[in-house]
Amino acid sequence: MIRLEMSHDGFINDIHPLILAFFPGEEIDVSSGLSIGDTGDFCLHITRDGEVLSEFAIRDTSDKDRILMKNVLKCRLYEDLSSFTGISLPWGTLTGIRPVRLALDHIKNGFSNEETVRWMEDHYLVSREKACLSVDIADKELGIIREVNSLKGFSLYIGIPFCPTTCLYCSFPSNAISRWRNRVPEYLSCVEKEAAEVKELFRGQKLISLYIGGGTPTTLGPEELKRLFFIIRNSFDLSDLKEFTVEAGRPDSITPEKLRIIRENGGDRISVNPQTMNDKTLRLIGRNHSVEDTVRAFFEARDAGFDNINMDIILGLPGEGEKEVSHTLSEIASLGPDDLTIHSLAVKKGSRLKAEMEKYGYDSLNNTDELMKLAGEAARGMGLSPYYLYRQKNMSGNFENTGWARPGREGIYNILMMEEVHSIPAIGAGTVTKYVKDPKDIRRIGEPKDVNQYIERIDELISKKRELYKGQRGG
Ligand code: SF4
Repeated sequence: MIRLEMSHDGFINDIHPLILAFFPGEEIDVSSGLSIGDTGDFCLHITRDGEVLSEFAIRDTSDKDRILMKNVLKCRLYEDLSSFTGISLPWGTLTGIRPVRLALDHIKNGFSNEETVRWMEDHYLVSREKACLSVDIADKELGIIREVNSLKGFSLYIGIPFCPTTCLYCSFPSNAISRWRNRVPEYLSCVEKEAAEVKELFRGQKLISLYIGGGTPTTLGPEELKRLFFIIRNSFDLSDLKEFTVEAGRPDSITPEKLRIIRENGGDRISVNPQTMNDKTLRLIGRNHSVEDTVRAFFEARDAGFDNINMDIILGLPGEGEKEVSHTLSEIASLGPDDLTIHSLAVKKGSRLKAEMEKYGYDSLNNTDELMKLAGEAARGMGLSPYYLYRQKNMSGNFENTGWARPGREGIYNILMMEEVHSIPAIGAGTVTKYVKDPKDIRRIGEPKDVNQYIERIDELISKKRELYKGQRGG
């Protein structure tokens, strides 16, 4: 048990995840009201099973220096925890989900790429490798962001919260389609109502990118899919779309007929997600499909005319080490996807994995620096380059998720969503609508994950959306 005592809890959201990055899964008992002499206005004292991990005090400063103070505090804490554990974290003191944003802003402020790398190393103790990765990605994103900014439009997300089964690590809106099939018509009617509202709210603005995710959109049957596309085409002008992604995801939900329907309705980017190319692990994580299904779905997507196919894999899955990951990478290389997202397993709140962590143990999550390098080199070998990156809480090895793509096949929606470039209204259970009023004023509202609640409260949810966007015209 770790005990964290502080003078006040103003920095708890920075300190807590940094401690967990060094001690994944450990319980932290937090209290405030600590005073260590009169040397400073903020002080902390951290022990683990009675042994002191860190203890210091810092002079509190005015609000305008708060960011500076936070960085000083995190660097000091990092040094204490690093010297205690002997561990260096790849992302240093950074605990947020968007490290690339820091690089982007620094470059936009006129600093060169090399200056930005050095600044990340010095200010946030980020490893040179991760700082260079962030700057590489920021460079790539800047071109796409500038082009999109000039269009003054919006993107749209539609969530279909059904899946064939629920994966071990899943914290997304996911309900077994077998138990929800009879409510799908009502669900789509609610999607239609929301789409009509979004159409009004964004009248006159260009729809730049459209992403249908979930869940697994292809759990819908062919007729249901057709209805969904009818709703979309009836509500929005798709002529300015730069990208239309359908995250088919689960190979066990993909059929040639559904792929044809997606293509006929303008879908030009699709995901076929293996997560691993080892059948034993697929069974363990509850995916309900085989490696063979993944290969079949991939070639069916190619046959249907998709020239932008994304695949997702996860490093750090229970029981997987170098041998299994190497196998997955060589199988994927033989397929030749256009876009590969390399995830580091995250133990997410609300997932079965989190609930069953005692059974698996954090030690069984084996993501390592070597595996990350192996995967990165394999992606480069497939002709892909990194183009977006994000981090999550409780990631195995404290790494990141990185999207890799062939030149010109970068997932535009992913970049716009991650860097919060423009508004992204979202439709469906468990979705989060984002209103980017300006880069410093970003407002969000979520919809309930529970499908029954979503259906019952649809009018209220639409009113909230109307309220959020009230008065905006132009993003
Ligand atoms: S396919 Fe995706 S959304 Fe569905 S259960 Fe698995 S992780 Fe969750």
